Amino acid sequence: MSRDILILPGDGIGPEIVAEARKVLEWVNERYSLDLVLHEGLVGGAAIDAHGVPLPDQTLQAARKADAILLGAVGGPKWDKLETAIRPEKGLLGLRSQLELFANLRPAILYPQLAAASSLKPEVVSGLDILIVRELTGGIYFGQPRGIRTLDSGIRQGYNTYVYDENEIERIGRVAFEAARKRQGRLCSVDKANVLEVTVLWREVMDRLASEYPDVELSHMYVDNAAMQLVRAPKQFDVLVTGNMFGDILSDEAAMLTGSIGMLPSASLDRNNKGMYEPCHGSAPDIAGQGVANPLATILSVAMMLRYSVGSNEAADAIEAAVSRALDAGYRTADLAEAGVSSVGTREMGQAVLDALAEA
Ligand code: NAD
Repeated sequence: MSRDILILPGDGIGPEIVAEARKVLEWVNERYSLDLVLHEGLVGGAAIDAHGVPLPDQTLQAARKADAILLGAVGGPKWDKLETAIRPEKGLLGLRSQLELFANLRPAILYPQLAAASSLKPEVVSGLDILIVRELTGGIYFGQPRGIRTLDSGIRQGYNTYVYDENEIERIGRVAFEAARKRQGRLCSVDKANVLEVTVLWREVMDRLASEYPDVELSHMYVDNAAMQLVRAPKQFDVLVTGNMFGDILSDEAAMLTGSIGMLPSASLDRNNKGMYEPCHGSAPDIAGQGVANPLATILSVAMMLRYSVGSNEAADAIEAAVSRALDAGYRTADLAEAGVSSVGTREMGQAVLDALAEA
């Protein structure tokens, strides 16, 4: 049975890094007879330039039809002055909410070859392998009412609503328990239950779910402590599960433990494991067009796609091993290179991964 893959390069370095990831995807498609049919579409600033909106109907339709989506990144200074409703980021948020991609999986893995690139001591981070499961379509980023209003006193007031219902908490909880079950069996739920009622309910639902997963050890941690523990002793964690805003912040913090945001893939899944796969970083306008961006996060996003939406662990393992071998062979893009060490460009790094795949 063939599967449809929609590729959305987006803006800035998006087209450069996606081009390398596409080559890797085409290579494994052939080698492992995956029967994937690849299409491309526009999203973000590129879609605004062509169609006046960040998420054109044809892109949304293609995304609905696709079995998985590979996205580069969106945004850039060219579109920063547009009103919020038609900014490039709305294309991304629209895809996430329209496709109900409620579960965001962000692994933070420190490749031993890159231990020196972390800002933490090598002994604190070496061998780090954690997974952050972030709820993506609810919480304070989507809660109503929201806005900026003028009070009777004439003072303006900004307000948002932090809301989760039991079903939303349960479905993200299940994703996290299932993920922990396939790893070391430890799940830490992050909340602010000492202050926010919404997370009192969050904690209750996680505790209830725990009885269905006796093989997973559940713990709870307040978000402020979790932020601290992530830099103090990050290896204590296996899987973390949390809401949209806390997950947004903690996953960026975890990203930095690994040295470069250019190494981190992500998956956003719906109920049926249809997913959108993208690097954790943005469109990096400061280096766009220079051919120096690190394509590995996008290539590793392809590996996640093969694992979660295509069901080919073999092809996913092959890509991850090839990335590791390219690093072993000494290939470093500028973001990974130690001072004084020469670096390679986006294409050379992509080629190094292809060569490592071919040699395996
Ligand atoms: P960014 O992640 O684009 O860049 C932060 C820093 O990391 C920059 O110095 C950049 O050069 C570097 N960097 C990022 N990816 C890299 C890579 N693959 N290789 C080497 N270096 C890399 O974040 P930002 O500067 O805050 O945002 C830039 C634009 O991206 C903004 O318009 C923002 O809205 C957008 N953005 C998009 C997404 C997304 O599409 N998912 C996520 C975050 C930011």
